[in-house]
Amino acid sequence: METKRTSIKQYSKKITISEVSCDISHLTSQDIPIYPRNPSPKFESILNIEKDGVNVSRITLGTHTGTHVDSQNHFLTNGIGIEREPLSKFIGQAMVLDFSKKTIGDGINSNDLNYYSSVARSNDIILLYTGVSNYWNHSYMDRIGKKFTYLEPSAADWIVKHKIKSIGIDTFSVEKYGSKKAITHKRLLSAGVGIIENLNSNLKKFVGKRVFLVCLPLALKGLDASPARAVIFDILD
Ligand SMILES: [Zn+2]
Repeated sequence: METKRTSIKQYSKKITISEVSCDISHLTSQDIPIYPRNPSPKFESILNIEKDGVNVSRITLGTHTGTHVDSQNHFLTNGIGIEREPLSKFIGQAMVLDFSKKTIGDGINSNDLNYYSSVARSNDIILLYTGVSNYWNHSYMDRIGKKFTYLEPSAADWIVKHKIKSIGIDTFSVEKYGSKKAITHKRLLSAGVGIIENLNSNLKKFVGKRVFLVCLPLALKGLDASPARAVIFDILD
């Protein structure tokens, strides 16, 4: 009798990740650098341990404060709010690509990304290290401010074409400062690509590596973005 054999094409391989994580999100404080025209955070004490026996605070926070995830309705009318962005886009294997040789303030284009064609796989997250995050301190707005590295629309096309599920960057935004049309955001968001902005300089430690990323936004009903905690785990095998 003939034995029937089924061959199953394997799309994903089992991986082992380290238990130790590395935080690639900025610390949020009241004096954190803020994208122009966005509000600065405010921390207030509502109940006080000496007076009330307990500490409870109120935070006033712009949705794009520090490390954050954008949702579709940041730029798309009828786009989904942050609570409906699929979390699977922000958990998974990520390639950390080095763009620190690029002049700060220039745009990353499709040719720049082509250099990494062989290492980026479909369904990957791509994290772009530009070096801008090294300036993140009290003088950031004077030294970098509006002149941060960003993605040209051709880079957004490349990301969509290569079926990258999310893109992260260590600058204020994936968009050139002052861009009226916001083509990069619109192309990425309309194709369902996740956008993570303002990662910290710990990203540098993982340049050229394949890692495991977890970066979860809060479930804020209908909002255009949410601060998020982004952590990287080493892939052991
Ligand atoms: Zn944003």
